[in-house]
Amino acid sequence: MAGRWGRMVPERRRCASLVVEDEELLARLVAEVLGREGYAAEVVGDGRGALARALVEPLDLLVVDWMLPGLDGVQVIKRLRAAEVGAPVLMLTARDQIEDRVEVLDAGADDYLPKSFAFPDLLARVRALSRRPLEKVARSSQKGSFPYRGPFPDPSEDVAVPFK
Ligand code: CA
Repeated sequence: MAGRWGRMVPERRRCASLVVEDEELLARLVAEVLGREGYAAEVVGDGRGALARALVEPLDLLVVDWMLPGLDGVQVIKRLRAAEVGAPVLMLTARDQIEDRVEVLDAGADDYLPKSFAFPDLLARVRALSRRPLEKVARSSQKGSFPYRGPFPDPSEDVAVPFK
């Protein structure tokens, strides 16, 4: 199997991710899949634990379920954003109405994935999220520059898009 931990990451530091999900089996599967994509994935099963973990050390990615014991996923994301944690967040949710998606994105999630999802879909979204802020996230993960102060590149930095 090509997916053993640590196998596909050329950089000396693996990306750090946190999977926040109280369904143990799903959490383990997501963590394993992230591992194949080059993320060292920790699993936390509740909202307060997630918050405690994410506020202590910089993360490169969070995958957060909405329905969690204690603090729900949307509350977790709001509190992280309020604390200027800018790491990309992918929300998993069984709720998939338009207003649910709006709530998730307005709370500060970068993307969402309705349950039940296919792992290739999860990975494609993770790749998309990691491409977007890659440089800044990498910098934010270095000592002394945490918290990272914005998930998106400043549009004024590369405005030269010719419309012809
Ligand atoms: Ca759940």
